[in-house]
Amino acid sequence: MRTIRTIEELRCALANPRRDREKIGLVPTMGAFHEGHLSLMRRARVDCKLVVVSLFVNPAQFNDQHDLSSYPRDEQRDAALAEQAGAHYLFAPSVDEMYPRGFATTVSVSRLTETLEGAHRGREHFDAVTTVVAKLLHIVAPHVAYFGQKDAQQALVIQRMVRDLDMPVRIELCPTVREPDGLALSSRNVHLSDPDRARAASLHRALGAIQEAITAGEHDPVAARARAIEQLTTDGLEPEYLELVSPDTLAPLEQIDGHPILALIAARVGTTRLIDNELIQPLSTAHAAGSTNQGRA
Ligand code: AMP
Repeated sequence: MRTIRTIEELRCALANPRRDREKIGLVPTMGAFHEGHLSLMRRARVDCKLVVVSLFVNPAQFNDQHDLSSYPRDEQRDAALAEQAGAHYLFAPSVDEMYPRGFATTVSVSRLTETLEGAHRGREHFDAVTTVVAKLLHIVAPHVAYFGQKDAQQALVIQRMVRDLDMPVRIELCPTVREPDGLALSSRNVHLSDPDRARAASLHRALGAIQEAITAGEHDPVAARARAIEQLTTDGLEPEYLELVSPDTLAPLEQIDGHPILALIAARVGTTRLIDNELIQPLSTAHAAGSTNQGRA
């Protein structure tokens, strides 16, 4: 695997494979690799002839300066892990390479970015994400780009950008990788103290409580949400947000009616802000009736 720092060098490296019509996969990351990142890279390696992993801690998408300065960085370790996972190029540009003097362009997706993470971190967070991902997609011009379901809103926003701007790339979503107790892997988990680490799995338990309530036949999103709040309260946590929304529009659900539901949560555990989500497929009335009938037959 080769580490590349400049856009020009990366474009040169990709020119021959592109001419030979080799399938190129891109995995955009901010580094501090864990199994979540590595699962995206391995998936890209299975699908594509050539895998580019980008490592860029995008300062513009941090609304909290402390979060930026304390973001874990270890490029040497990351390079070794990316190589083991099958990456061919690690694109690790400087901030100046990505934002040259006079940089003045923003790619902005409206509506989907105004709620949840956008409401709490500010629209500028997603503007910075879409701008940098649009740049990476132009630089690498991959056939497929890989993102994690862990950042469900981010993935939806990127899918919308790609569709709206007719970018010739397929966006592939990969499942959230979790610790054995359910905590979603995140680069920020290293900041959790031992007691906070122990209760951090509460986010996943809260989403599980929503899933259980829905599976048990709950039709009222407010009641399902209350079950999750109970779980969080038991663990001494208070969510920044906890919402049941449509997975396509992120609009809050009025009722649970057999359509898929996206349950999303953000909460501070100690000083560390964590997010998680679960896509829930309720049993439709027809399906539930069908199983009962089969049971009786
Ligand atoms: P980040 O470095 O946090 O910006 O993440 C880079 C990519 O890895 C994004 O597409 C994330 O959604 C994805 N990712 C982060 N954590 C996980 C996880 N636990 N499971 C699967 N994908 C993840």
